[in-house]
Amino acid sequence: MAASLPLRVIHTVCSHDCPDSCAVLVTVNEEGRAVKVEGDPKHPVTQGFLCGKVAKYLDRVYAPDRVLYPMRRKSGVAKAPLQRGREHEAFERVSWDEALDAIAARLQETSDRYGPESILPYSYAGTIGVLGFGSMDRRFFHRLGGSQLDRTICSEAGGQAWNLVYGKKLGTPTEDFRLAKLILAWGANIHGNNIHLWPFVEEARRNGARLVVIDPYRTRTAAVADWHIAIRPGTDAALALGMMHVILNEGLEDRAYIAAMTHGFEQLAERVREYTPQRAAVWTGMTPGEIEQLAREYATTRPAALRLNYGVQRSENGGAAVRAIAMLPALTGAWKMRGGGGQLSMSGGFAWDKKALERPDLALASPLGRLARVVNMSELGRALTELGQSREQATGNRQQKNGEVHDDGPAVHALFVYNSNPGAIAPNHNAVRRGLERADLFTVVHEQFFTDTTDYADFVLPATTFLEHTDVQGAYGHYFVQLSQQAIAPRGEAQSNVWLFGQLAQGMGFSEPCFRDTQEEMIRQALAIGADGRSTNAGMEHITMEALEREGHVPLAIHAAPKARPFLPYTSGLLATPSGKIEFFSETLTAAGLDPLPGFVPAVESRWGAMAKQYPLELLARKNDNYMNSTFANLPGHRKMEARTNQKLEIHPQDAEARGVAEGDQVRVFNDRGAIELTAMLNAHLPAGVAAARLDWAKLHPGGANVNALTSERLTDIGGGATFYSTLVEVERAGNRD
Ligand code: SF4
Repeated sequence: MAASLPLRVIHTVCSHDCPDSCAVLVTVNEEGRAVKVEGDPKHPVTQGFLCGKVAKYLDRVYAPDRVLYPMRRKSGVAKAPLQRGREHEAFERVSWDEALDAIAARLQETSDRYGPESILPYSYAGTIGVLGFGSMDRRFFHRLGGSQLDRTICSEAGGQAWNLVYGKKLGTPTEDFRLAKLILAWGANIHGNNIHLWPFVEEARRNGARLVVIDPYRTRTAAVADWHIAIRPGTDAALALGMMHVILNEGLEDRAYIAAMTHGFEQLAERVREYTPQRAAVWTGMTPGEIEQLAREYATTRPAALRLNYGVQRSENGGAAVRAIAMLPALTGAWKMRGGGGQLSMSGGFAWDKKALERPDLALASPLGRLARVVNMSELGRALTELGQSREQATGNRQQKNGEVHDDGPAVHALFVYNSNPGAIAPNHNAVRRGLERADLFTVVHEQFFTDTTDYADFVLPATTFLEHTDVQGAYGHYFVQLSQQAIAPRGEAQSNVWLFGQLAQGMGFSEPCFRDTQEEMIRQALAIGADGRSTNAGMEHITMEALEREGHVPLAIHAAPKARPFLPYTSGLLATPSGKIEFFSETLTAAGLDPLPGFVPAVESRWGAMAKQYPLELLARKNDNYMNSTFANLPGHRKMEARTNQKLEIHPQDAEARGVAEGDQVRVFNDRGAIELTAMLNAHLPAGVAAARLDWAKLHPGGANVNALTSERLTDIGGGATFYSTLVEVERAGNRD
């Protein structure tokens, strides 16, 4: 009999899509079972605690309904929503060998018949571990010649917008927020989904800082702020430009910083002349006096720290909004002081060797001999129902678009989903569903649970949690590289993304040695470990595997000595923009035929658009504090934490009264794309004309559709992102229709 092991504590990293990337210590007992998860007290940002979502993580890892074995859809079972808890009845268990052989054969057949671009991967940030997010999967699809996925759904508009201004996503170190005297949380629910910033905000407030929250929804963060500005959705650019108008009008800008560090100030100054507080007030719903007060407070308080989050950019004008907001600390010189400046994401600090991980060169060995076409994940409904249709019709293989002959390639005939749940999270749910229901679409889903997406799968493959595989991770909310060590054996036959795509590649006869790389080898590749055992990535040259194994977390060089050498981003040297400076004016946008300066353009789907006549309410299809998009929504403990707004439509009392709707009424929320039924909940904190309902799994709604039945596939002005917060609807009491 093997000797039993004592309790062990393993350093892992929470890989959910959250800026905090917490260091998680997992205690494992003699039987190899995880018995405790806790935040690492030694990690300067985790500080020994976890959020409510992950504090209960063992409920997820050991959930009785986890998918533990490869499953194949039973013959004759239609692709359609399956009853919660009985999904397994639609599938039969198969071995990994059977599953991989069948999937490889079907992908090969699809590639031969329609071309490899008819195979579409679909993934996002179900895990943000460097390997799990994108490594062996990318190698596989490059070599296969499958369509490339433009991963735009969450942050692309904001990320591109920030980079247009600064060239690289860097920000004020999270720990330095404690020094701020003003914290401006713009579209940032710090309490809900960036909780490890909160202790620094509290410390700053104890030292006299004010917290101002700009958010159409009264989040938990907004509720405890010194000032909550419930701006109308999608009008953030108007507010930022109005603030700039006041700052320049009153001479509150930092001329020395502007002269040394920026490009295009004169053009920006000219542009903001038209954005008077009076004009900005009309759009935002604020008073001119409030805009003036905010601008003065922001420009004259030192240090002022901005926490901008991605909600702002999920509207039609979202890219311009992020650009305008991102320019504020450049205008006031807020970057110059420790504790000033701001954050959207700090992921630009992590120079992983992505080429080595993803191997785009393998596309040359694919049947295409080139990189494949790109499909935008925010348009999945369109991709599955419209893409390539004309090519396959008898009329020929070319279609007319905007008067030009256009060939967008083959229709999608195989969909491979991992790290995502598009049946719940993709906009225009009914179009997505029509696509997923296609009998001729072959769908594989790598997942931990049966979800809205597995209901349409031909194969469901069991996926590991971050406790069950090894990875390396950076963060977009701090500056530490961390090693996530495998803490427990995978449950059942769950496998990691790296294993899955390596095996599938070998099954398809791809002979390149890189498909046999182990997780450990790939971590070394991500770090570009050199002959002396150190990383050769910029800013990681001091990092070794041994240090990561020993410490769990190692700071980037820019953050290695925060007391002696505090990191002040964008205060010296050339920036990674075309001009080498912070760009108020972007020639890149001019070249692309876009407005080189930020401006406010009312959304088509807003109270100012023509659609508002028919659908006058602006809907916030909002996220949850205790889920991670759709992740965790299936767990009873997490659902309980979100019970207050479960299946609710929050609506302003004036809007409710105008529709004869009272608290607790069943209401139908609808537009041209779809309808859902919810229970009315009056909320006077919302701006009038704005309603809110949170994302949930479609199959957990009585009608089988969630808020994404109402959202559109219209894209953001920059980056081709999803516009979840530019959605118009009408509301009526349920049963009024007939
Ligand atoms: S979800 Fe975020 S806050 Fe929660 S444990 Fe993971 S990284 Fe930390």
